[in-house]
Amino acid sequence: MKFSKRILKIKPSPTLEITARANNLKAKGVDVINFGAGEPDFDTPSPIKDAAIKAINNGKTKYTPAGGIIELKKAILQKFKRDNNLNYDVNEVTVNCGGKHSIYNLMQILLNDGDEVIVPAPYWVSYPPVILLAGGTPIILETNEENSFKISPEKLKSIITSKTRAIIINSPSNPTGVTYSQEELQNISDILKKQDIIIISDDIYESLIYDSKKFINMANLSEEIKKKTIVLNGVSKTYSMTGWRIGYMAGDEAIIKKVEILQSQSTSNPCSISQWAALEALTIDQSLISDMVNLFNERRTILTNKLNQIPGVSCLVPNGSFYTFPNVKEIYKFRGWKSIEKKYSNENNSVILSSYLLDESRIAVIPGIAFGCDLNIRLSFAASKENIIEGIERIKKAIEKLV
Ligand code: PLP
Repeated sequence: MKFSKRILKIKPSPTLEITARANNLKAKGVDVINFGAGEPDFDTPSPIKDAAIKAINNGKTKYTPAGGIIELKKAILQKFKRDNNLNYDVNEVTVNCGGKHSIYNLMQILLNDGDEVIVPAPYWVSYPPVILLAGGTPIILETNEENSFKISPEKLKSIITSKTRAIIINSPSNPTGVTYSQEELQNISDILKKQDIIIISDDIYESLIYDSKKFINMANLSEEIKKKTIVLNGVSKTYSMTGWRIGYMAGDEAIIKKVEILQSQSTSNPCSISQWAALEALTIDQSLISDMVNLFNERRTILTNKLNQIPGVSCLVPNGSFYTFPNVKEIYKFRGWKSIEKKYSNENNSVILSSYLLDESRIAVIPGIAFGCDLNIRLSFAASKENIIEGIERIKKAIEKLV
């Protein structure tokens, strides 16, 4: 079969691969503890589900404008004002079929063949493929763990070329949980403001933030930077609505218009019922978010404390998201490593370790190489306290066998 060059550049998502293997084992009755989840383990709150049911009963089941219903657009404008102190016009926002689709749309309308997009590593798995699918080239900006995985402005400056079209800033980050302060964003923006580069601020984990840190994004820095920034967000993570597929973006009216044209000729509108549910999510009493954050915060403390007690593991405490990204490079030097390396030959170290943990202790984690960093693995704390405690005990036993 002959396929397009575009699709041949893309590999299946490694996070989905390990989750599929874990699910396979679960289906066979094996007691797997899953630290791979990329979604909150809570149900969508009832008022949001009720709004969707009401929408169905009221016949909101037909096509909507490609960029979303006006009621939802207005709620998004209010949300930006309320939570981010950002003012947009209704022509400067659009609704897409999930945050991933927002990024996909953006890349499709912005990039020509060979245009470069700067992607700080460790990065969310979907950024490079989405750029490649649009004919662009992901330029990976390495960060280091000693610097808490934060972008070095000097390094950033050194990789900008005449082909650089955009940069993605994801704070809080998937997979590291790293969250940028105003000063750190300011230092990055000092480099970017002199350049003709679009800043894509992926704020999908905005509300999952700890240690009394205040969320801030690039668009907050100045009117000049706001003009260069497209802010992406969605309801998936904040309201436990991953399956509803609603994302949105705000920024330059000309960009938004092109995204709506593309969407009108591809997916048409985002699901009408989900749009009414998202409207409810953005406008109900937002204290349900702090309840979820408090729970995640407790689990974060347990998980990072326990991880740091495992031989060969060192884990930074994430300030945001629901992920930890422990460094496991010392494990690769353990006496028993050679034998498992032999068993899972031709794989990256983080894949070998993840496979070993799944086979040996029925624990699913995501290999760091999926995020561009083979020295780490990703564990999500979208798992119950009991599972975190039991799961870490199992990992510890498996690793102690290798020491
Ligand atoms: N951005 C980041 C960093 C993510 O981790 C995800 C989901 O995992 C998304 C965007 C997209 O989420 P969704 O498509 O569910 O809105």
